[in-house]
Amino acid sequence: MKNLTQKTKALHAGHNTYLTEGTRAVPIYQTSSYVFNNTEQAADLFSLKEAGYIYTRLNNPTNDILEKRLAAVEEGISAAVFASGTAAISSTILTLLKSGDHIVASKSLYGGTYNLLNVTLPRFGITTSFADADKPDNFKNLIQENTKIIFIESLGNPKLDVLDIEKIANISKNNKIPLIVDNTVASPALLKPFKFGANIVIHSLTKFIGGQGNSLGGAVIDSGTFDWSSGKFTEFTEPSKGYHGLKYYEAFGENAFIAKLRLEGLRDFGGALSPFNAFQIIQGLETLEVRIKQHSKNALDIANWLENNENVKWVNYPGLKNNKYNILAKKYLPNGQSGIVTFGLKGGYIAGKKLTDSVKVFSLLANIGDTKSLIIHPASTTHQQLTDEDKISAGVGTDLIRLSVGLEDIEDLKNDLEQAINLSK
Ligand SMILES: *Cc1c(COP(=O)(O)O)cnc(C)c1O
Repeated sequence: MKNLTQKTKALHAGHNTYLTEGTRAVPIYQTSSYVFNNTEQAADLFSLKEAGYIYTRLNNPTNDILEKRLAAVEEGISAAVFASGTAAISSTILTLLKSGDHIVASKSLYGGTYNLLNVTLPRFGITTSFADADKPDNFKNLIQENTKIIFIESLGNPKLDVLDIEKIANISKNNKIPLIVDNTVASPALLKPFKFGANIVIHSLTKFIGGQGNSLGGAVIDSGTFDWSSGKFTEFTEPSKGYHGLKYYEAFGENAFIAKLRLEGLRDFGGALSPFNAFQIIQGLETLEVRIKQHSKNALDIANWLENNENVKWVNYPGLKNNKYNILAKKYLPNGQSGIVTFGLKGGYIAGKKLTDSVKVFSLLANIGDTKSLIIHPASTTHQQLTDEDKISAGVGTDLIRLSVGLEDIEDLKNDLEQAINLSK
């Protein structure tokens, strides 16, 4: 499988048809638990002397195929899947950090992630400093003695800022801190953060990878490039109380992080993915490449069209030539800039509200990455809980409308926006 390209890996990696009775589709192993051969084998499985299935919160054959396939597509060494992108993010942080530790993150984050870092984690003694990502050096300036990770989104949702991953990765490397990249909006079909020095990639599988708006899921993929025995994370080299003194790095080597994430993150925090959802997400992953290129093409087309509409005040899409992030987009997203477009109307918030109430093909809802076109007003919904100041730094002005451009006929989408914009005046 190693020499195959991503397109082929997305269709085949991780699935040995011989082991699944020849089924061409990946089967759904809808079981909570697995029969042990005898008590001794059960004990060996529980003590990790033998590898195998115990209980679906820890591992499952369908989920296992999805994990292998995501690791192959993202060109990492191993992966773990979760019930949602949020479960993937929180489990990663809770596996790596403890009370007293610190995170440096970019300011423009998904609303839920921002709230986790800014409000919820401080209750557990884990604090975050937020960097203006337009200047990579800002990350360096915020690093403290207790900083354990740098967390960014490769293409911010919904600010659509393209981050200079390579420069930020150099800062993290010099400080021996892993760089974690939420690659949800770009997806591995458009951007591979590991090529630019990222150490861990996280996805909400709910979005473009699943791609049909039907299943929640999340994933964490390790590149194998961070040295978990470096002393920064002593819990990888010291005996674990949770597994009779097991030392993760000694037992699992470069796979130590994903092992700990599964054996502690999934075991103790429980955000396991349903095998049925894993099956749906596998179907999505198989067509990701063709879909996201078309999403990107349609989004660029809509962005250009909006720019020429006299009622539109501003349009943000990294693929537009005059866009602030176009130079970075050429480097990091040369094959398409994904399906999200944001814009504001001259009539501001009131006109925006009328517009979102008047569309007929676009659906007013809180999601992105569906085959169907979606629309939302983040300031009153996904980013409602942020202060006005935080909204601005997250790139969410009160007039901002976010589109997730789907795969419908482009003329139908333009006509729908046109009639809604006319009604919003
Ligand atoms: C949706 C999203 C998440 C959260 O994922 P869920 O699957 O909804 O929990 C995290 N990051 C980004 C960039 C997202 O768009």
